[in-house]
Amino acid sequence: RIVYVNGRFVPYEEATISIMDRGFLFGDGIYEVSAVVNGRLVDNEAHLARLDRSLGEIGIRNPHDAAGWTRLEEDLVARNGLTEGLVYMEVTRGVHERDFPFPPAEVAPTVVMFTQAKTILASPLAERGAKVITVEDLRWKRRDIKSVALLAQVLAKQQAAAAGVAEAWMHEDGLVTEGGSSTAFIITEDGRIVTRPLSTALLPGITRRAVMRLAEENGLTVEERAFTVEEALSAAEAFYTSASAFVMPVTEIDGTRVGGGQPGPLTRRLRGLYLEMAGAG
Ligand code: PLP
Repeated sequence: RIVYVNGRFVPYEEATISIMDRGFLFGDGIYEVSAVVNGRLVDNEAHLARLDRSLGEIGIRNPHDAAGWTRLEEDLVARNGLTEGLVYMEVTRGVHERDFPFPPAEVAPTVVMFTQAKTILASPLAERGAKVITVEDLRWKRRDIKSVALLAQVLAKQQAAAAGVAEAWMHEDGLVTEGGSSTAFIITEDGRIVTRPLSTALLPGITRRAVMRLAEENGLTVEERAFTVEEALSAAEAFYTSASAFVMPVTEIDGTRVGGGQPGPLTRRLRGLYLEMAGAG
């Protein structure tokens, strides 16, 4: 397994990062994840645009332009012979003696990339549908930034794992914000696809945006509004989206069956449309 660290492709076992790295000490860094299907990156330009925005929001210089990132990603995919899975990219504020304020401008950001093989297309979970639990959203107020400081999500997703379910949906003031690592959607009895509008309360999901566009192109109605946990429990269908799950049907929330406990027809259709877009053919 070959990984990328600060300008070099090296075997995973030889890759090292300083203990003074600010990503390690402060969670002072940004990450991004793109899917790979049939050896090709999925919607990668949008992921790189979000990476650039996240870095800009916290004042870390983006070490590569989109073309540079893409070359590195494609090189890494090729070196690992990856046909299906994920490319993970992380940029931290670099290595410096521990102190809270930013280090001097000449300190270079740390860049790490690796691939993970993962079956995304032929997913048994997507066939039978995922169960989720709801948990309180304990995160900070800038969730639009894809920060590596993920403790709240670690705790939320550990609760989900302990409950034997696939994902945790986080809520605040009774309203669902998003999944621990996904965007939450419900579908109403009259077929409207509902997801929370973008704000600093949630991450602008790249898969969310693609699914909304595909839905609208296919004559489906998308409604951007917040929804409550109660509304989700009685929705006709529910699903979540992410680069690593694409469109994942939800069949149970907090032990209550959604849509008769089967992946819903509109959700299946959206998954099909997304797979087609991703070049799954
Ligand atoms: N929301 C959160 C908190 C996430 O961590 C993720 C992905 O990891 C998403 C939403 C989904 O975003 P995307 O579709 O860009 O993968």
